[in-house]
Amino acid sequence: MNVVNIGYGSTNYYAIYCQNKYLLIDVGLPGTFGMMKNQLKKCGINLKDIHHLIITHFHPDHCGIAQEIQSSGVQIVISKTQLDFLESANKSMKKYPEYKEIIVNPKNILNENNKNTFFEKLGIPGYILHTPGHSDDSISIVIEGLGIFTGDLPLLYHVFSESDEKIELSWSKIRSTNEKKVFPGHGNSIELNSLS
Ligand SMILES: [Zn+2]
Repeated sequence: MNVVNIGYGSTNYYAIYCQNKYLLIDVGLPGTFGMMKNQLKKCGINLKDIHHLIITHFHPDHCGIAQEIQSSGVQIVISKTQLDFLESANKSMKKYPEYKEIIVNPKNILNENNKNTFFEKLGIPGYILHTPGHSDDSISIVIEGLGIFTGDLPLLYHVFSESDEKIELSWSKIRSTNEKKVFPGHGNSIELNSLS
């Protein structure tokens, strides 16, 4: 199992390789599918080998081309919590003319309270944590032995707002895992024990 950052712009998009296939975490702004395909090529990743896409939260730099990716054979998987936000996300993203509405197959909705469903669905040892703070639809994806993909959850030392409590709670969930590494949506990966 390994992880490749195929990010562009200022956002990280992670391709996790496990059992001869990839799981993608987040994709780029509307209109950047060509750029994404170039990045995949550069990294030697065949689009056909990407089976699933998970989105940390419905902001344009994390889900803008999700539906286009799905149309080329990748399945979008979301958490049950995120389902409540999908409709408003599709609505607010309409301001981008190139945005294609995200449609999720009901089979691909994972209940994050049942940790087993992630492995059952994706064949990758991991699970989802609901980690609001940056936005209420934000999740973190734990890939066991690799690390935690936290999207735009603010790092604690960047926090000075009234949503501190939510963010602190989310980090305490993250800390209670056995993982050591954090892969954020922007910037470099960090050792979890270096965050206090
Ligand atoms: Zn972002």
